[in-house]
Amino acid sequence: MNILVINCGSSSLKYQLINSESEEVLAKGLCERIGIEGSAIVHQPKDGEKIKSEVDMPNHTAAVKYVVEKLTDPQVGVIKSLDEIDAVGHRIVHGGEKFATSVVLNDEVLEAIVQCNDLAPLHNPANLIGINSCREIMPNVPMVGVFDTAFHQTMPKKAYLYGLPLSYYEDYKVRRYGFHGTSHDFVSKRAAQILGKDIKELKIIVCHLGNGASVSAVKYGESVDTSMGLTPLEGLIMGTRSGDLDPAIITFIAEKEGIGAEQVIDICNKKSGVLGLSGGISSDFRDLADAVAKGSDEAKTALETYAYRVGKYIGAYAAAMNGVDAIVFTAGIGENNAEVRAMVGEYIGFLGANIDSEKNKIRGEEVILSNEDAKVTVMVIPTNEELAIARETVRLTGV
Ligand code: AMP
Repeated sequence: MNILVINCGSSSLKYQLINSESEEVLAKGLCERIGIEGSAIVHQPKDGEKIKSEVDMPNHTAAVKYVVEKLTDPQVGVIKSLDEIDAVGHRIVHGGEKFATSVVLNDEVLEAIVQCNDLAPLHNPANLIGINSCREIMPNVPMVGVFDTAFHQTMPKKAYLYGLPLSYYEDYKVRRYGFHGTSHDFVSKRAAQILGKDIKELKIIVCHLGNGASVSAVKYGESVDTSMGLTPLEGLIMGTRSGDLDPAIITFIAEKEGIGAEQVIDICNKKSGVLGLSGGISSDFRDLADAVAKGSDEAKTALETYAYRVGKYIGAYAAAMNGVDAIVFTAGIGENNAEVRAMVGEYIGFLGANIDSEKNKIRGEEVILSNEDAKVTVMVIPTNEELAIARETVRLTGV
């Protein structure tokens, strides 16, 4: 069976067509600048080159049409017709408290997702537009929604409540939700498989270190804490996001700079993190490594501050679970950046976790980084959110 996985942003749409039996990616691609001048689709069939076509995409429905066109194209396509798409899995950012698992999409469910929109005003409406566009073009194909927040719905109250008047939680659902759930779920399950143990016996800390980054504490297969909160701004220092802050900073900066609180939040989201800390060098860790090699103190400080925060969260989550059996690095930086892993490694030795510098030289592969006698196993496991979404889609639609 072929599952089309869709990850829709406000002006972009990423897709993968995955064969559910072989779990092979048949084709993947990206529609960019949807609704903006200069829109294009970049399509890559299995074993083929990336092909970029500049096409007019005034909206997401047009983008989905081009995706289908590419997938069924006689030259660069991988299927003969739309009939070979058996189901569609959609990534949805925020499911609030309503969705603790993935769900088959129908009118009623879509209405419930709309009610979560004010919790993720930038992301959820875009996800919904993508879903509606797919339903328009493939009205008879079953569709599933997989939420970034769902895996963390097992967090206990003591982990998800903020120290605010309870009425804000009761009236407005202001609480910690957490994100990257699909990745934390996928990676923790894979860690248990690699260790050859039942996940229900394991305490695992997953460090999802990508452009967005979060740590989670997965105890006996359930998320019991995670570093992102009401929005994906809380927690670790990220590419461009500040992570944890004293909330009083917002109005302090607003007053000093003569700008509104909303603008300060925008700066916290887009101009902070390692980009801001490095004095604007880059949000990309490869550029920062180059800058460090050329002697930039700012880039070095940015990386040190980043790694320190990751180390602190690992310590906190070991306490939250009263122990830890495995620490896993994943996502772009976690999978590929040996320097950052080594820097984080400096903080976790007291737990009985160590990183062997030889084993740490790898990039983007499943590997155990700790020595055999280590009390805590440190590992790299590449995440695969699209595959996780495809698996959920198969599980729920039974295609
Ligand atoms: P993601 O959001 O998971 O795609 O992660 C993006 C981050 O991963 C960027 O900061 C990249 O610098 C980093 N990254 C991706 N590939 C590599 C690589 N081969 N070496 C070092 N860092 C990498």
